[in-house]
Amino acid sequence: MRNVICARCVKCGKEYEATPNLTNCECGGILDIIYDYDYIKTKLTTETLANRRNPTMWRYRELLPVEETTPDTELRVGWSPLYEAPRLAKRLGLKKLWIKDDGVNPTASLKDRASAMAVAKAREAGAEVIACSSTGNAASSLAGNAAAAGLKTYIFVPARAPKGKLAQLLSFGATVISVRGSYEDTFELSKQAIERWGWYNRNAAINPYLSEGKKTVGLEIMEQLNWQVPDYIAISVGDGCTIAGLWKGLKDLHAIGFIDRLPKLISAQAAGCWPINRAVETGEPWRPMEENTLADSIAVGVPRNADKAIMAIRESGGLTVEVTDREIMDAQKLLGESCGVFGEPAGVTGTAGVKKLREQGRLPADATVVSVVTGNGLKDVANAIAARGEPISVPPDMEHLLDAFAEHEVPL
Ligand SMILES: *Cc1c(COP(=O)(O)O)cnc(C)c1O
Ligand SMILES: [Zn+2]
Repeated sequence: MRNVICARCVKCGKEYEATPNLTNCECGGILDIIYDYDYIKTKLTTETLANRRNPTMWRYRELLPVEETTPDTELRVGWSPLYEAPRLAKRLGLKKLWIKDDGVNPTASLKDRASAMAVAKAREAGAEVIACSSTGNAASSLAGNAAAAGLKTYIFVPARAPKGKLAQLLSFGATVISVRGSYEDTFELSKQAIERWGWYNRNAAINPYLSEGKKTVGLEIMEQLNWQVPDYIAISVGDGCTIAGLWKGLKDLHAIGFIDRLPKLISAQAAGCWPINRAVETGEPWRPMEENTLADSIAVGVPRNADKAIMAIRESGGLTVEVTDREIMDAQKLLGESCGVFGEPAGVTGTAGVKKLREQGRLPADATVVSVVTGNGLKDVANAIAARGEPISVPPDMEHLLDAFAEHEVPL
């Protein structure tokens, strides 16, 4: 990889050669991929990109840690739409708001960006089996991307994972292990199994390449905005890999001169589980928390990438915000009604955070904001229906329809 210098520990600074099988530093710290930006600048310009037809995350190859000979992965991951959302902006009292809908990825979440990278690196490692533990989306996404590449998967999920995600896993032919315990228990068991059988490890916080896949969401947002930097980018946070990846992508673009300043990050967590935000707010080291939220994808009491995430939020001069399950479900409704975007609870938590920050007066009205929807609402229909209530039910008869309209006070 001519564009990569090494992998460096974020804790102790030790450097490693960037081989495909890298995991954590021997000190336990997380590794960060270090690039040769001078070299990349000679290979990539905004014009090159503008003329590139590849509508996937692999359009940013020069900024990604893969060998030139490694093929693009099979599924069409990335280049998700960035919608301008004037009605929602108005309802939140914001000057400009865009929604980046990553729920339209092949397996319906942002995790596809990391899983595509995992498949590419597993190929470089010559692996035929990949394994991971996940709150659900990393699992279904790995299973789908690996199936498309002809790789076998072992997937560990906590028993609470919603049905939509399980259905995906099973239909992609993964060997699924449903662990009757918390996400932390699930992670630990997968770690032992991976060590025992030597599978390729797609656990996001351990495999340093995965947040490099996730960073493409930041690269895309900036290209889609024609390199005009918004004031804030809001995103939901669980393990912390996504927000750290987003930040890495933005810093890459800054380093090669594609953007002239950096946005501030908005880190949105659930009020029932916010270890990363708590660390940022108190200045104390992060401590484990209970996993008390219906936003299952961010119910992460022991975040695996807290250090990188906390650094990213601080470095950006960003904001932290915690939202209740009620506020999350309100945001789901608001996004659906005003944008036609259906997000799962964790998917809309960033937007719920933007709304709350406006209400708290912590986000100025003239701010320009991008809010990332990280997962599709079809992943978890039970919670969506529970929050919205059932539809108006009638027999196939006009009289009953009229009665029902009157009863429900439907405006006609
Ligand atoms: C995984 C996930 C997140 C959070 O990403 P982390 O890297 O765990 O912080 C947010 N939303 C959805 C839908 C996810 O699947
Ligand atoms: Zn180290």
